[in-house]
Amino acid sequence: MQISEVLHDKKITDPPLLGDHLAMDLLNTEARSGDMVVDYWESDSDVLRWLRQNEISVVLQPGQLTEGELLSQAKALRTLAFQLISAFKQKQQLQDICKLNTYLHSYVSAPHLAQDGDGKLTITRISRSDTAASMLGQVAEAVAQLLVDGDATLIKQCEHPDCILWFYDRTKAHKRRWCSMATCGNRHKAAQFRKRKS
Ligand SMILES: [Zn+2]
Repeated sequence: MQISEVLHDKKITDPPLLGDHLAMDLLNTEARSGDMVVDYWESDSDVLRWLRQNEISVVLQPGQLTEGELLSQAKALRTLAFQLISAFKQKQQLQDICKLNTYLHSYVSAPHLAQDGDGKLTITRISRSDTAASMLGQVAEAVAQLLVDGDATLIKQCEHPDCILWFYDRTKAHKRRWCSMATCGNRHKAAQFRKRKS
């Protein structure tokens, strides 16, 4: 399936988790196909589902939040992350880090012991507060961690002209070019093949 089909048919598709970093996958909840911007977040439950897909546990009872609050906070965090990460990648002075601190300071969390299917134990953290900002705390922390420890040259966007997906290049040779070999990598290969044939 072409990525444009995937993006157009977003009702059956969740945002791609191919950024290899939570902060990259945050940016990838907004994608583009041609001139069209596709926002995978249209409701609180879209954001909640995305958090769960990223194994972020949240304590939430229905009705604890005003409708739309999680969505608007998540989108604001995404916009902020985009500005900060873009500036970091271009080695510019970072503005507005205090805005990121607003999310970080709201993050009330506790250690959480979990066991996977093979019995392997891990310690993660879970949000212990029911505010929208706290629920997004782990995501904000991933953005902060990227700005502190990340290598700006490994923050990349897919090279396909129709694609804006981001990823953190953890390959050994640091030569990753595509969001995914199955979509954009293959599109590129097919185009090269057509060019050679004509
Ligand atoms: Zn791509």
